[in-house]
Parts: sequence; C-alpha cells; structure tokens
Amino acid sequence: MHITVVGAGVTGLSCALELAEADHDVTVIADHGPGDTVSARAAAIWFPYRVAVADPDLSADHLLERSLARFVGLASTAASAGEDADDISDDLPPVEMRRGLVRERTATPDRSWITPVVNVLGADAVSEVDGGVQATLPMIMTPTYLAWLMDSCRIAGVRFRWRTVESLAALCAGEYGTDSPDAVVVAGGIRGGEVLGGDAEILPVRGQIVVLANGDGDAGTGDDTGPHLTDWLIDDDNPAGETYVLPRVDDIVVGGTAEVGSWDDAPDAETAEVILARAEAAVPELAELPILGHGAGLRPGRSSLRLGLLTDDELPDGTPDIPVIAAYGHGGAGVTLSWGTAERVTELVATLG
Ligand SMILES: Cc1cc2nc3c(=O)[nH]c(=O)nc-3n(C[C@H](O)[C@H](O)[C@H](O)COP(=O)(O)OP(=O)(O)OC[C@H]3O[C@@H](n4cnc5c(N)ncnc54)[C@H](O)[C@@H]3O)c2cc1C
Repeated sequence: MHITVVGAGVTGLSCALELAEADHDVTVIADHGPGDTVSARAAAIWFPYRVAVADPDLSADHLLERSLARFVGLASTAASAGEDADDISDDLPPVEMRRGLVRERTATPDRSWITPVVNVLGADAVSEVDGGVQATLPMIMTPTYLAWLMDSCRIAGVRFRWRTVESLAALCAGEYGTDSPDAVVVAGGIRGGEVLGGDAEILPVRGQIVVLANGDGDAGTGDDTGPHLTDWLIDDDNPAGETYVLPRVDDIVVGGTAEVGSWDDAPDAETAEVILARAEAAVPELAELPILGHGAGLRPGRSSLRLGLLTDDELPDGTPDIPVIAAYGHGGAGVTLSWGTAERVTELVATLG
C-alpha cells in the first residue's frame, strides 16, 4: 500500500520504518526535520512519564513492553558490534543499557513502570535500594538516534517531503508532491490535531533542559575534562522540583520542568539556573562540567494517547474516503512508546487489506 506519514519526529520515523519493512511504499511529509522536533529535545530514557493510555483497545503495558524489547535489541546489536573494533560505525543504533536510580519520596510511589521491565528483562533488571529503585534501562542518544532512524528509513526506501500539511483532503488528493495515498498516518506530535481539524484534548507540557559536557574522567592528567558520568537519576517527586540527570556518551541532559499549558518553547535563563542548582544538589560532580547548551520543548500531552483508525466523524468534512490513523499525544514518553506505536500502526494498516 502507499502510505503517507505526517511527521518526522520519533513517532513518524519509527512508523515509517516499520511500515517500509512490512513492504509498504512510504512517504514522510513534515515541516520540521528530525533534528528540529520535540523528539530531539528528549534525552532520552525509556521511561513512561506523563502519558495516559485510556483507550480500552490499547494496553499501556503491551505498548511499553514492545518498545522496550526493541530498544533492548538495538542496544544489544550496538554492544556486540562495538566489541569488534572493526565493526564500530556510525550505522549502529545509538542505544545503550544504563543503570540508574528512580528516586522515591512518597509512601506509595508509582511503580507501574516496573512490570514491563520485569516482563522484558527479568526480575534482576530492578532492585530496591535505599531511597528508590535501581534499574537498567535503555538510554537512547537523541538526536543521533533520530539521524540513525532517518538513514534506516532511507535505506528501507522511505521518501521524504518537507512541506506543511494544511489540508488533509489536499494531502489525500496528492497535492503536496506525494502520491495519492491508500492510507495516512498522522504523527504530528503537539500539532497532531492540526491536520484533523483541531483537537481540544491536546495540551502542551513544556519541558526545559540544560546540556552539560560529559568529562573524560581522567582526573589528574593535563587533559582532564572533568568526571565522566554513566549512571542516570530520575527524581520526579523532588520537593524542590522535578529533577533528572541523564548521562549520554559525550554529554549529560539535566532537567527539568513540566509546565502544563505553556506554549513557550524557548529556554528561559532563570529556569536554567534553578534546574542546574537542583541537579547539582543531587549530583555534585555536575558543578565541574561546562554547559554545552539549553533547550525547551512541548511534550504532546493529551487526556489519552490517540492511537487508532479514525472514524468518519473524527475527520474534517470533505476528507476523501481514505483510512486515517492517528498516532500522537505521547506526552513525556514518545521515545519510550515509539516502537510499540509503530508496531500497532503497522498492524492497523495490515487490517486495511
Ligand atoms: C525536555 C523533554 C525531555 C523529554 N524526555 C523524554 C525521555 O527521556 N523519554 C521519552 O520517551 N520522551 C521524552 N520526552 C517526550 C518526547 O520528546 C515526545 O513525546 C516525543 O518527542 C513526541 O514525538 P512525536 O514524533 O510524536 O512528535 P514531534 O517530535 O513533535 O514531531 C512532530 C512532527 O510532525 C510534524 N508536523 C506536525 N504537524 C504538521 C503539519 N501540519 N504539516 C507537516 N508536518 C507536521 C513536525 O514537523 C514534526 O516533524 C521529552 C520531551 C521534552 C520536551
């Protein structure tokens, strides 16, 4: 089938790759390339955060487990190829399994995330420790991961068009330089409702981050660039404000904020200072590391993830009789749910015959 995917963030690219690998002819259309999406702001760690899955046809655990299993597979591919020095290449998925701590501060902490982890990785992947739960989870190095996804899409034959879609009817009629599709997937993130004539349930949850250089850990040498961190920390219930420290290879993403209803996607200097102060209180080594940059993005919050085939009533008047699948509203867990979403979309397309 000819499928047009609207969106080149982690959701759109994952759907496009999965569909192309299932032998569909796929075109992605988007007005922001992967490096310029909310997805590129995510650190990202596999962790369900600020996402609701209320649709009775969907199981959050199932989507999470499918994604987790795929990321574990990608991390394993990268790790085993990396063991052979000749094999190290830019073509490897930038995903690593990393140990860290989910800090707990309440009498009844939300431990729902543990079930998918244990189901996929076994009971040894998590352990209760003083102050929280330690776990080994995938760390996905965006934006290099998005570049890897896009390359993988191209290799699988996906075509890209860089345009704003203003009308679903025009898209279905092939007026944006794409073929007239047999089905459309809307993976537009916070703007997912735009092409569908609006969505009153979408609500931005602004997140701000500071990116620090990760040091080389060569203390005492002339070239010492500071401590090298590998372990992550998630401390969402920190009374001073939600705090996370997510070390990648060369840098460390430090957050954060969760401002519900704010449409401001520019980083704010005062907020950055507060974020850094909180993070340094939790991980003092951070104070030694230089700031590489600042970022902010709008998590696509929604009353519930919108993932499914839309009915005629849900489509704007005048939309031709072409199946439209919604895949947006992933809140703070778009990367975490990306492969589960892509697999679900591909299953739905298979039912269209
Ligand atoms: C600071 C921060 C940290 C985060 N950390 C994590 C994390 O650690 N783990 C995690 O899982 N998630 C994290 N998230 C959440 C995650 O980033 C989002 O859930 C995810 O990026 C949503 O991806 P998406 O592909 O659906 O949307 P986006 O990345 O926003 O992509 C939307 C795409 O749709 C296109 N588009 C939309 N409308 C149109 C139109 N009309 N015409 C053409 N193109 C259109 C855009 O151009 C873009 O290409 C974080 C978010 C923030 C802000």
